[in-house]
Amino acid sequence: MRKGISVSPGVAVGTAYCIHEIFVDPDTKRLEDNEVTAELASYETARDKAAAELRALHHKVAAQVGAPEAAIFAAHESILRDAAFTNKVRTWVVNDRLTAKAALHRLLDEYTILFTKTNDEYIKERVNDVRDVVIRLSTHLSDVAKPEATSVLSGPVIVVADELLPSQVVTLGGLEVRGIVTQAGSQTSHAAIIARSRGIPAISGMRGILSHVKTGDTIVVDARGGHVLVNPDAEQRSAYLKLEREFFLLKDQLAANRDQPARTQDGIDLELVANINGAIDARAAVAMGASGVGLFRTEYLYLTHPDVPDEEEQYIAYKEVIDASPNRTITIRTLDIGGDKTVPYLGHTHQEANPFMGWRSIRLSFEHPEFFATQLRAVLRAAAHAEHVGSRVRLMFPMITALEEIRKVKSMVNKAAQQLRQEQKAFGSDVKLGMMLEVPAAAISIKDMLPEVDFVSIGSNDLVQYLMAADRDNPKVSHLCQPLAPPVLKVLSHVIKACQKSGKSLTLCGEMAGQPRAFVLLFAMGLRSFSMSPAFIPSMKDLAAHLTLESARQVLRKAMTLRTTAGVNRYMAEQLARIAPNLRMLDVD
Ligand code: PEP
Ligand code: MG
Repeated sequence: MRKGISVSPGVAVGTAYCIHEIFVDPDTKRLEDNEVTAELASYETARDKAAAELRALHHKVAAQVGAPEAAIFAAHESILRDAAFTNKVRTWVVNDRLTAKAALHRLLDEYTILFTKTNDEYIKERVNDVRDVVIRLSTHLSDVAKPEATSVLSGPVIVVADELLPSQVVTLGGLEVRGIVTQAGSQTSHAAIIARSRGIPAISGMRGILSHVKTGDTIVVDARGGHVLVNPDAEQRSAYLKLEREFFLLKDQLAANRDQPARTQDGIDLELVANINGAIDARAAVAMGASGVGLFRTEYLYLTHPDVPDEEEQYIAYKEVIDASPNRTITIRTLDIGGDKTVPYLGHTHQEANPFMGWRSIRLSFEHPEFFATQLRAVLRAAAHAEHVGSRVRLMFPMITALEEIRKVKSMVNKAAQQLRQEQKAFGSDVKLGMMLEVPAAAISIKDMLPEVDFVSIGSNDLVQYLMAADRDNPKVSHLCQPLAPPVLKVLSHVIKACQKSGKSLTLCGEMAGQPRAFVLLFAMGLRSFSMSPAFIPSMKDLAAHLTLESARQVLRKAMTLRTTAGVNRYMAEQLARIAPNLRMLDVD
């Protein structure tokens, strides 16, 4: 039994599929003279298979997701076909008698060393693409002793990886993935976000797991306490299969509430809206009963795009989301890049000492005014389309730290609207402008900020990491980066009160909105709008139906007297077991 950080709740049992086996188990065999030709031929076959697979993926993803998301596969195919890449592999097979797999491993090492020497972030990032291609090629080179990916993937699979790569994240939809375990990563990693949006139990930060698990092993993912069990005995296996069935049943039961209003036991209406990355999630959100989109993270459009998406491409992407969310309000957040997410073409040319406190998000958008204007124009135009079909677009700005930034952003929006008017292009006539509250400075001076905005959305993922000075992606400090830490609760209460007093609309769109313990406290503080991964909406709706304002306030009063995070967590676990015992499977430690 091993312990990591639970990033998506539930219990799952399945066959391990280790994506990064190549990095754990490098091939040390040397070829005999008479094996070289056959090895080169296997490499060619693997290359053809990988190319065919990439083309098929390109096709499928372009049709089902969109051309920008599919572009990554074309880029990977060109790496695969790159002459220098292939020549190196061939030379090492012929001269050094390496197996093709070992040659690929050496090639990746070489690129990694080479790329780390450069200061150019664009080039640095490309090593992930090379790695992606190497993994793909080596799965096609796997010997018969190892189950072929496709045969393993025909049953329930637990994906075990160092971290899921962007291209794998896009394609997971085709597999019967029951659980995800990653060595790296945390609440906000690619793997975590995709797992939550699909309702798949997932655990991150399992350092060293790939050395202890091989493809074909049976794995249990128990995301209630962040535990992973490798090759359980028969008794354990059947106990966990029972829990897994319970989890499925609960999900089914809860999903049936999709058409019911989100209402507390004492009749208070709540707004449960969705965090999405694109049209696929928007459809999932509607299916789960979301009444709107509280956070559309537009950066995925950029992260999966080889160059700057132009205005038209952005407009189409936003329009797709609007069409997937009929008669709803869609809150589009402008590009939130930097920190952990870098986009090469935006000039991340040197490594920052403190990227999360550096040149990220709105700060970066300000330094690229033309590029930012393109996004503003695309959103404003999409807003016109929304009005046309009976929906509404709101525009939200991340990482607002100072009042001047709000004023500046408003003047940029006005300028973009003016330009569109001059060009006689339709744009939204009443797009509400809001700020994300995720920096402690903004939380402290919220009263000064409120008159300048139409709405506020608390980005608690960042707010917590900045308040606690604990990196949200670093498992070593995850004990500090806790949304239920007493100082965090005090700040949240302060912000919620200030917004209530001003009458401005307030949402919370960080991960805690979908966590039962936090949900109860936030409701008691006065929050009425919660934005979360679509998969959490049914369970939070069910939780809401168990709450009354008075009982939640009682719990809050006691929670606010507790002085340690562990104390709050213990207390809230007890309270939750009392308030909604049916949801115990979804309560995460
Ligand atoms: C947040 O910070 O809480 C948030 C919702 O934004 P992101 O997770 O994209 O930084
Ligand atoms: Mg944030």
